[in-house]
Parts: sequence; C-alpha cells; structure tokens
Amino acid sequence: MEQLNLLSSLETHHELLKSYEKELIELENKLKIRDLEKRIMAIEEKLEKAKIKRDEIRKSLKSRNNILVEYNYRIEEIEKTLYNGQTTDIKQLEYLSREKDRLKEILSNKETETLTLMDEMEFLEKEILEIEDFLQKYKEMIIKQKRKYKILEQKLKEKIEDEKKEILSIEDNINKALLEKYYAIRNSKGSGISVPQNGVCNRCYMIVPMILLDRLNKGEVVFCENCGRILCKETQI
Ligand SMILES: [Zn+2]
Repeated sequence: MEQLNLLSSLETHHELLKSYEKELIELENKLKIRDLEKRIMAIEEKLEKAKIKRDEIRKSLKSRNNILVEYNYRIEEIEKTLYNGQTTDIKQLEYLSREKDRLKEILSNKETETLTLMDEMEFLEKEILEIEDFLQKYKEMIIKQKRKYKILEQKLKEKIEDEKKEILSIEDNINKALLEKYYAIRNSKGSGISVPQNGVCNRCYMIVPMILLDRLNKGEVVFCENCGRILCKETQI
C-alpha cells in the first residue's frame, strides 16, 4: 500500500514537472517577446528608409540652392546691362530682355520644385520624429516584458528544481523493481498509473476484472490487463 501511495505521488510530481517545463517553453510566446522584437525591426527599417530619403532631399536642396543663387546672379547681371544705359543696340537689348524672361521662368519653376521638396522634407522630419517616439515606447515595452519574463522564468525554474528534488526523494523510497516497471510503462505510454473508476481503467477504458480489484484492495501491486498500467485506488491519487 505504501509503495502504491508513493507511486501515485511520484506520478503527480512528474505531471507537475511536465506542466512547469511546458509553461517555461511557452512563456516567451505568451509574453509576445519575439513578436515585439520583429515589430521593432520593421519599425527600425522604416525609420532607416525615411532617414535615407530625408538625407537625399537635404543634399538635393543644397545643390538646388546653389543653382538658384546662380540663376539670380545671371538675372541681376543681365538687368545691370539692360538698365545701365551702356548698351544701345536694340537687338542686343531685346535679346537680353528675352534671356532675362527665360531665366526668370526657369528660376520660378526651380523655386516651385524647391518648395515642394522643402514640404516633403518637413513631412519626413515630422514622420521621423513620430517613428522615433513610437520606437522608444515599443522598446520600453519590450524591456518591461523581458523583465517580467525573467521573474516568471526564475519562479518556474525554482518550481522545476523543487519537483526534481521531490521526485528523487520519492524514488529513494520505492522498491527498485517496481520503480523500473513504473518508468518502463510511463516512458512508453506517457503515464504509469491508472485509477479504475466503477471497475473501468481510467486510462484505456477497459473493464478491470473483479479479481484484480480485490487484489488491489488488499494492497497488492496489480496491472491493468489491457494497457499494463499499475492500478491504484482512488484514494491513492
Ligand atoms: Zn488500462
């Protein structure tokens, strides 16, 4: 009887150990740490692209400014020639006037393009700040989740260690041959014990003959004739 009680207890602790180990494996998924990390990577990629685009526009704006300065200078030079009175050739003056209008039109188009780029740049700067802010919050969240993970992981590891110690201590008190038999059944079937209910094995659901139940009630070690598990009385679980 004592031996069967110990086997029942052993089975209970094995089940607990299994559930804690499963919990430990599932813990990271439950806290969605990997999902958060993936999301962070995607956000960082988006941020990087926005920064590259912003730098390109910045560079383009710089060279465009030089061009605008250049056009303004050329227009001023033409205007000087037009209005200083030194040139009297009508054709020359007409040509310079047309040239001035042409340059002014180009300048105006280039200024419009520059303004569009500046708008785009402003939008990107705003977007970059927003992404950085969002990223910061996400990173804080993942730090919190990792901290939570560490605490839960530690607790589970302690529980696992306790169960392992308990199992070893129970094993020490069980007859070696019976223990070997128990593990052989458990390893092949996932559980080593069955508790017949209303005369039926609660693992394989086959009827357990009365004669076996009687022997079980007398404290003998008996096995289910169908699945081979060690039979225990309900009170032993
Ligand atoms: Zn059975």
